[in-house]
Amino acid sequence: MDFDLKEEHRMIRDMCRDFSQEVIAPRAEEIDRKREYAYDIIARMGELGMMGIPISEEYGGSGGDWVGMQLCIEEISRGDVAFGALLDVTTSVVAQELDVFGTEDQKRTWLVPIAKGDKIGAFGLTEPDAGSDAGSIRTTARLEGREWVINGSKQFITNIGLDNASLIVTAAVTKNPEKGTRLISTFIVPKDAPGFILGNRYDKLGWHGSATHEVVFDNCRIPEENLLGDPARGFAQHLTVLQTGRISIAAMSVGVAQACLDESVRYSKERMQFGKPIGRFQAVQFKLADMSVAIELARNQYLKAAWLKDQGRRHTFEATVAKLFASEMVEKVASDAIQIHGGYGYIAEYPVSRYYKGAKVLQIVEGTSEVMRIILSRELGL
Ligand SMILES: Cc1cc2nc3c(=O)[nH]c(=O)nc-3n(C[C@H](O)[C@H](O)[C@H](O)COP(=O)(O)OP(=O)(O)OC[C@H]3O[C@@H](n4cnc5c(N)ncnc54)[C@H](O)[C@@H]3O)c2cc1C
Repeated sequence: MDFDLKEEHRMIRDMCRDFSQEVIAPRAEEIDRKREYAYDIIARMGELGMMGIPISEEYGGSGGDWVGMQLCIEEISRGDVAFGALLDVTTSVVAQELDVFGTEDQKRTWLVPIAKGDKIGAFGLTEPDAGSDAGSIRTTARLEGREWVINGSKQFITNIGLDNASLIVTAAVTKNPEKGTRLISTFIVPKDAPGFILGNRYDKLGWHGSATHEVVFDNCRIPEENLLGDPARGFAQHLTVLQTGRISIAAMSVGVAQACLDESVRYSKERMQFGKPIGRFQAVQFKLADMSVAIELARNQYLKAAWLKDQGRRHTFEATVAKLFASEMVEKVASDAIQIHGGYGYIAEYPVSRYYKGAKVLQIVEGTSEVMRIILSRELGL
């Protein structure tokens, strides 16, 4: 067993860490306060190849692997989790779905610009009445001549509100042409398709640098060839890429938790009470020690899940454990980080208050903690 990162992984991690700490972290507070979409940062992430790490060079990526991608997501999230969310959706979910299930033409047209970071991808599964029960979606697609006509709406869609978002990979209900039975199929819907409507931007608790919007399909027309993959297996396709997305959510959680720990160690050495730095009190030291334990375990687990994926091995259990453990861990770590900062921790300009707001949703997106426990129960044969 070898726990050392390979040279290529160390290089990715260090490059992303430097970029995150030097470029993203100093701007994170302002981006969050002004609710900005930082297009200059997104463009530089693309130039550095971050959106295409696990995609082959042939399709605009750098031919790396998922361990490298998830390390990148951890480091970027340490600077600002909103950019981790961007990478998770555009690469782990959308680029992968195009790469694994797309035709040669679809890859050339849609994957290449996304892997290069010139364009950003969005993913649409959730609807107003279909969240955890994603199989109950109501958006429909019917074939009319050589076009699919899509009707319905999607909510909480990450990235689609960005000016350089090119498409949403979306799930819709279709009919088996022979049996007439209900299927869930997947479609590539370009943002400029007739009938595509970008809905309201959500005002969220945190992740203000991440674009979250509603999407409406009003007789939205796309070419027949924009069907992605097997029409009968659209839902299964989504579940495949969401499994990788869950490893990314774990990596994002570790990044935020590491930022909490870094800030808390620094603060505990500086803040004087009772004539000494608060870091000299065992109660504070033990909180910091417990944080470091939780982060170490969560990091090992997401790397194990990513490594199994790179080996082409089944990793449902490992990815689910990674997502559940890391997202629950980061909420506790972020809360403890505020506790260590005392009243200052609750004040907006201290980064730990932003980390705390950004941590909670990690227990919800790409499957809630309850859904993770349902999957684990199934893995146990229950
Ligand atoms: C910031 C943000 C970004 C997002 N980005 C995207 C995106 O890009 N694309 C996309 O498709 N979706 C996105 N989502 C949606 C997200 O994946 C869903 O919010 C999530 O899957 C939960 O669905 P829901 O909100 O409808 O909650 P619900 O499913 O209504 O769940 C409500 C509560 O009930 C619990 N619950 C539900 N069913 C069960 C059960 N069987 N057993 C036990 N408990 C249960 C849940 O765990 C939860 O606690 C995003 C959400 C947010 C907040």
